[in-house]
Amino acid sequence: VYNFAAGPATLPDPVIKQIQAELPSLQGTGMSVLEISHRSAMFDDIINTAEQDIRDLMHVPANYHILFFQGGGTGQFAAAPLNLATQHKRIALLDSGHWASRAGDEAANLGVTVDTIASTKDKHYQELPHLDKPLSAEDYDYLHVTTNNTIEGTAYHTLPEHGDVTLVGDLSSNFMAENYNVQDFGLIFGGVQKNLGPAGVTITIVRDDLVKPVEHIPSILNYALFVKKNSMFNTPPVFAIYATGLVLKWLKQQGGLAEIEEVNRKKAALLYDFLDDSKLFTNYIKKSDRSLTNVPFTTDNPDLDTQVIQAAADSGLMNLKGHRSVGGLRASLYNAMPVKGVQALVDFLHNFETQH
Ligand code: PLP
Repeated sequence: VYNFAAGPATLPDPVIKQIQAELPSLQGTGMSVLEISHRSAMFDDIINTAEQDIRDLMHVPANYHILFFQGGGTGQFAAAPLNLATQHKRIALLDSGHWASRAGDEAANLGVTVDTIASTKDKHYQELPHLDKPLSAEDYDYLHVTTNNTIEGTAYHTLPEHGDVTLVGDLSSNFMAENYNVQDFGLIFGGVQKNLGPAGVTITIVRDDLVKPVEHIPSILNYALFVKKNSMFNTPPVFAIYATGLVLKWLKQQGGLAEIEEVNRKKAALLYDFLDDSKLFTNYIKKSDRSLTNVPFTTDNPDLDTQVIQAAADSGLMNLKGHRSVGGLRASLYNAMPVKGVQALVDFLHNFETQH
């Protein structure tokens, strides 16, 4: 089957096979990765290699730390304001959809003032909000931007002109699926469960000068502490980090992020071209803002949409139901989705259209 779920998502076949082969005994030790100590030399090697592979793949400069947290993107919605919104206690937000506004709610809940600088809510988030004028670091601790809006199906392919304010990027749904320049951000975060691994670990990349001792915040979200302890302040999610490490090696074998992005562009174009020609299915997103990884579409008839989803599942094309706030269908085309999976979806939709 092909799994089009928005996350947790499909993993590369060779990675599943390697996990299966290594599960009973890692590196001939007679112990499973599910059982090894996070204080062992073997795990040290796993976490350090994963970190280095992230550094290589994203060209992360030496003055950025790479940290592994639990708690998902949602945990980082709290960690970012707790660690970074310390001077002005005020952040700016581009309200591009559900997850952007959730990040704003979490910061506000922690006593930080959140200025929503622009929103496309009145346009049902079918296009991206932009800044009218650059922002100043004298007014805001940072600007929060969601690079890819998983539910609505939009993405910033070019980052907004933001002035000298620190940029915080929620890359949860296009982390290493689209190539961004790390130096444009002060902080990047995202759970791995869409493009990079199984649920359970969150990658945070933070510029050195933003990591400061902060008092009275939970240790589990404390950047300075995690830097000091090499992400092992407490027991890390050993298996999730191991499996993510295997996906990172797979990404390197594909040629790196430029090549991955090219394949992702090809996959997205295959589906969008079909949708744009179709007389039955429509994608309502402004063309320049369309996501490479999440493609919502609909027949504009909820009963027919349900029929498509069911018939697709019967053909092995799984999890195409759109998010409840948008309805219709959504195909998520993350890194591990092969081109032939998208081709199978297009062929299926074409046949369905012919029959209806
Ligand atoms: N941000 C975005 C863009 C997401 O798509 C999601 C989840 O789908 C989240 C944040 C929340 O992530 P998590 O479930 O890892 O907390």
